[in-house]
Amino acid sequence: MSKRTKKIWVGWVSIGGDSPIRVQSMTNTDTRDVASTVRQILELEEVGCELVRVAVVDKEAAQKLALIKKQINIPLIADIHFDYRLALMALEQGVDGLRLNPGNIGGEDKVDKVVERAKEYKVPIRIGVNAGSLEKDLLQQYGPTPEAMVKSALRHVKLLEERDFREIKISLKASSVLKTIKAYQLLARKVDYPLHIGITEAGTLLRGTVKSSVGLGILLYEGIGDTLRVSLTDSPVKEVQVAWEILRSLELRSRGPEIIACPTCGRTEIDLIKLAQEVEEALRGVKEVFTVAVMGCVVNGPGEAKEADIGLAGGKDLGIIFVKGKVKKKVKGRENLLKSFLEEVEIFLQERKKEG
Ligand code: SF4
Repeated sequence: MSKRTKKIWVGWVSIGGDSPIRVQSMTNTDTRDVASTVRQILELEEVGCELVRVAVVDKEAAQKLALIKKQINIPLIADIHFDYRLALMALEQGVDGLRLNPGNIGGEDKVDKVVERAKEYKVPIRIGVNAGSLEKDLLQQYGPTPEAMVKSALRHVKLLEERDFREIKISLKASSVLKTIKAYQLLARKVDYPLHIGITEAGTLLRGTVKSSVGLGILLYEGIGDTLRVSLTDSPVKEVQVAWEILRSLELRSRGPEIIACPTCGRTEIDLIKLAQEVEEALRGVKEVFTVAVMGCVVNGPGEAKEADIGLAGGKDLGIIFVKGKVKKKVKGRENLLKSFLEEVEIFLQERKKEG
């Protein structure tokens, strides 16, 4: 049921149409604290966040947006609830996108004002419907259902379309995976605006990752979704990492090394979980796409990981580094293994670059 959506631009990043599926996140710092917010956004950029949203809770937060934008390298989206004046201020501050529901900002005249300025600044608006905060009449008629979510979104859309504003993106979030999937499926049949997908309040790292992977995985597999945000009760850096892994699993987009690690068994003689985590952390900012294997024994490890571009296997007193399943280097002592491995990764990437 995949169909092409309309392309919109959030700053210099396109969403929808033939654009790649974009990875985004939201900061969890106090937006009024510019230094912490910028620091977190730069960290998000490092792991591949392509758009970032910040909560604009009051006038002071709105007034900090230009200062934040100046120090970051990805488009900045202002998340606004209820107060249209904050939206106007955010636009004046130069944000690249607004997240706001036009039906919730206090009346038609307020919508006129925001739309007029958004057009002037060429800034798109994301309508974000959340199953937990649907309009009373819709709840009475439909209950907290996917149908009610879609009706709610279409109401907000109508308010913008009536003003000839079509730079729209829509999200329909619920904490229930099945409800979210159904809602997006219904909506995708009705509109051609790009869809921002996510499972809201998904939970802590493990549960949230599973729920997001299942829900967003199904949608993306069906061709629904132009940008995704994984919501976790954890660092937004992890949200971005999970989002990229979802895209990689579906072979939609890749960024950075894919890290394969053996499940460990009775032959494992080192703390493999720690080693795999260290490798993952050390390669965190690397953008090149290649496969890394981290294996738990020097005898079977390289053979088992033949498909990996480069890997390491840790034994009791000896670690080995291998390329395409062949031993490249033997390293004495666990403490030298990671350092030698990173040197070999550098050599591997340089050689691959030379080969073009
Ligand atoms: S690589 Fe070695 S330690 Fe890991 S699962 Fe295979 S045999 Fe066991």
